[in-house]
Amino acid sequence: MNIILFGPPGAGKGTQAQFIVKKHNYFQLSTGNLLREEVKLRTPLGREIESLISNGKFASNEIVNTLLRQSIINLKFRDRIIFDGYPRNVEQAKNLEIILGELDQSIGHIIFLNVSKNIIEKRIMGRMTCDKCNMTLNEFFNKEQIELHPCGKEFLKRRKDDNFDIVVARYETYMKTTKPVLDFYSKNANFTEIDGAAEIEQITNKINDVLNV
Ligand SMILES: [Zn+2]
Repeated sequence: MNIILFGPPGAGKGTQAQFIVKKHNYFQLSTGNLLREEVKLRTPLGREIESLISNGKFASNEIVNTLLRQSIINLKFRDRIIFDGYPRNVEQAKNLEIILGELDQSIGHIIFLNVSKNIIEKRIMGRMTCDKCNMTLNEFFNKEQIELHPCGKEFLKRRKDDNFDIVVARYETYMKTTKPVLDFYSKNANFTEIDGAAEIEQITNKINDVLNV
């Protein structure tokens, strides 16, 4: 069954996608990668994409759809695709349904790994690194491990993270642009929201439960 995986930056989407790929033998389809690969192959379409990008333009929906179709039609990936970072808007979501329908496929599961802005902020701000062993812990989420850290907790120090504002802005943009797509899908019976604030392993277990239905 094909899957669409949604999740803001910082929700652990990449980790979970990798897990699904390995454990359930899936193919992760990111439109960014598709575009980059096509450019690398120097096909006529690849050259068109290259010239668009070098002129500061985006690849059109039509180009993205052509590339998507090429992958979806590939029998090796049949019913084993994780759509990652696609669809980004309702128009693309409708397009995807059309393409899948034409190739006699569908979306089995839509998974939204949700995480609040507060958690994202804590994950960045609470990061502490040990001066002695370089281990990274989080003062909000690893309290016990910090107390018991073998080097001594005095070696765990906070470092100012210059990326803080960028990460938060990226999170906000994602949530804002993705909301209409989530609204589009959330009425479906195959839509599942999973708490991305949970431990990585717990999230993995929940995804497993969903996929084994
Ligand atoms: Zn240490």
